[in-house]
Amino acid sequence: MPKIDVLDHGFVELVRAMGDDDAILQAARVSTGAVGDPLRDRKLLDRLAKLHHSSPFEHVVATFHVKVPRFVMYEWQRHRTWSYLSLNEYSQRYRALDPPEFYEPATIRAQSAGNKQAGGAPLDDDEATRARLLIETAHTDARDHYAALLRAGVAREQARIVLPQSVYTELYCTVKLWNLADFWRLRLDEGAQWEIRQYAQATLTLMVAVCPVACTALVKMLEEE
Ligand SMILES: Cc1cc2nc3c(=O)[nH]c(=O)nc-3n(C[C@H](O)[C@H](O)[C@H](O)COP(=O)(O)OP(=O)(O)OC[C@H]3O[C@@H](n4cnc5c(N)ncnc54)[C@H](O)[C@@H]3O)c2cc1C
Repeated sequence: MPKIDVLDHGFVELVRAMGDDDAILQAARVSTGAVGDPLRDRKLLDRLAKLHHSSPFEHVVATFHVKVPRFVMYEWQRHRTWSYLSLNEYSQRYRALDPPEFYEPATIRAQSAGNKQAGGAPLDDDEATRARLLIETAHTDARDHYAALLRAGVAREQARIVLPQSVYTELYCTVKLWNLADFWRLRLDEGAQWEIRQYAQATLTLMVAVCPVACTALVKMLEEE
């Protein structure tokens, strides 16, 4: 199964995809019965995307297995048009994380001056080194406290409360192509947090291999809006 590594320990894996460019074209031409050629196919999908004639794109459905820091999962799960099966959210009650894995950013960003929600330019080297040390210490402490709670006999479902938002978790999630394009619109944008943008880009790269003409049409639509 095609898989792209993301961040330091994460990934996006395309578990399965139902449908392809032909599935969308067949649905779009159900009324006309017209037969396409590559040029007409491309023009048709461009036109459908531009007009937001969305239903033909819903004949492509993708399931991803993703490994993400929890703060990325929280952002991702706001997209209600996806279906989710959150593996480790359940399994953390049955199975201890051994050991928990944490996201440690390669670049530490300063708070943006112009956007209260966003990170800005990288911190300078000295400040970044100090920040990195604080992050690593917090993770070491969290790992130690989690292990100590488990050793003390505390239930796994309660021991996990000492784990920070940077802890990795895994999800299965399924989405129709049109709704995935909406995810790209919001999460490839520079206004989105850099980390989720890397995941959004990975889903796009994987889907280009499944339905290249449709993805090109959808990306063109997003760029023109
Ligand atoms: C840069 C950025 C910053 C953000 N900041 C915040 C923040 O500070 N706080 C915060 O809480 N959220 C924040 N969000 C999350 C945001 O508000 C949306 O919840 C998230 O982007 C999902 O978008 P969506 O509703 O279009 O997606 P989906 O939930 O997938 O919905 C897609 C479309 O279907 C419609 N839809 C789906 N389900 C329903 C429903 N039940 N009822 C009505 N319409 C529905 C939606 O209106 C939308 O048009 C942020 C998102 C981004 C991209």
